[in-house]
Amino acid sequence: MTTEGALFELPARYRQLQDEARALALSCADIAARADEADRIDPEMRARLAASGLAEVTVAAAYGGRFEAVDSLAVTVVREVLAGVSAHLDSLFAMQGIGSFPVSTAAAEPLRQEWLPRVARLEAIGALGLTEPDVGSDLRAITTTVRQEGDELVVDGHKSFITNAGDATFYSILAREEAGYSLVFVPADTPGLSVTHPHQIIAPHVLGDVILEGVRVPVGNRLGAPGAGFKLMLATLATFRVSVAGAAVGVAQAALDEAVAHASGREQFGMPLARLGPVPAMLAQSWVDVESARCTAYRAAAAAARDPLSALHLSSIAKVAATEAAARVTDRSVQVMGRFGLVRGSVIERLYREARPMRIYEGATEVILDSLARCKPPTLPRRCGGWRPGGTGALGRDAG
Ligand SMILES: Cc1cc2nc3c(=O)[nH]c(=O)nc-3n(C[C@H](O)[C@H](O)[C@H](O)COP(=O)(O)OP(=O)(O)OC[C@H]3O[C@@H](n4cnc5c(N)ncnc54)[C@H](O)[C@@H]3O)c2cc1C
Repeated sequence: MTTEGALFELPARYRQLQDEARALALSCADIAARADEADRIDPEMRARLAASGLAEVTVAAAYGGRFEAVDSLAVTVVREVLAGVSAHLDSLFAMQGIGSFPVSTAAAEPLRQEWLPRVARLEAIGALGLTEPDVGSDLRAITTTVRQEGDELVVDGHKSFITNAGDATFYSILAREEAGYSLVFVPADTPGLSVTHPHQIIAPHVLGDVILEGVRVPVGNRLGAPGAGFKLMLATLATFRVSVAGAAVGVAQAALDEAVAHASGREQFGMPLARLGPVPAMLAQSWVDVESARCTAYRAAAAAARDPLSALHLSSIAKVAATEAAARVTDRSVQVMGRFGLVRGSVIERLYREARPMRIYEGATEVILDSLARCKPPTLPRRCGGWRPGGTGALGRDAG
């Protein structure tokens, strides 16, 4: 191998993680179809993820994790492998990190020690509550409130489309308070918190609405200082957004594999589909899409692992590139497979549906492009992602 080649290899530690993720994904293949159609957490898949120890990647080493701090490249390469086999498995893994990250970075030490080791062992399930029925991308418009009464915080509001709602053990809830926006740690069994399931989406997902009515938690459950909520959200986004790109690459690669297998095995007009008309070029174009997205995702994830905030523009670029690539590749794969690509319950049909939401959550493509358009390419890193001194809108639009 040339020196140049070695420079572009993942370090051994990450390749080892990929091997672990492949072993887990393989062990979950028999229940993937069932879990991916479920709108509650599949207990068997949860048990297998817990037994693998991979959820340890989602918290810092001091609390039972694998890396000194949560490492974007590690999360990204694991998600790539898991998402190729099961969206449910990928979501279960990723949300342990996304839901608990504000606790990792801003909770008081006793709260961290109580909860984060449980997150790493999957004994506690995390969730992050930002979105509301009338508020998605523009998070500064949220109406959920938190107020301090003595040594308690009182939270009132309605969060919508929350991953893991109903199965989560705790929620990190974004709310308005006098000092600005704050994140509050709310255990799921706190009186006044209830969950409904008004929506099911085209790619089933553990989703629900969280209603908070006079919910009281100790003042120590405020994550960080009063008004630090958006800063914490930005840190969460900066660490995890690029991992969506990893998951999208996994979905795209799996779709391409399906299309290649089908086109190589099926003959029409006396030859394999893979040699017919534009089909080879379609497959090659998908390969280009997958490899380009993977390179962009790894590069951004490696930069985010070193300094997530400075690399937010790269993470944003990778998220857009990979999720848009996944949409093209899954669509092209269905086309190559003809009617067999449309069969309900088939792997390709599942991948086609799973690719779609990725362009909307954790920053819709157009919202991210809007933020990127505000960055001059070699700009002050922290201004990327829409961070404008004195501005109010773009961070909120970015953070959903
Ligand atoms: C599977 C799934 C899981 C989710 N999990 C969670 C969760 O765990 N926690 C949580 O809080 N939320 C969650 N969400 C909600 C998600 O964060 C929102 O869907 C997302 O923020 C977009 O908000 P919206 O859907 O209300 O779209 P809107 O904000 O209504 O935007 C609709 C469209 O308008 C365009 N648009 C909006 N603003 C701009 C802009 N500024 N510039 C250019 N175009 C713009 C975009 O095309 C966008 O797709 C989840 C959603 C899905 C689908």
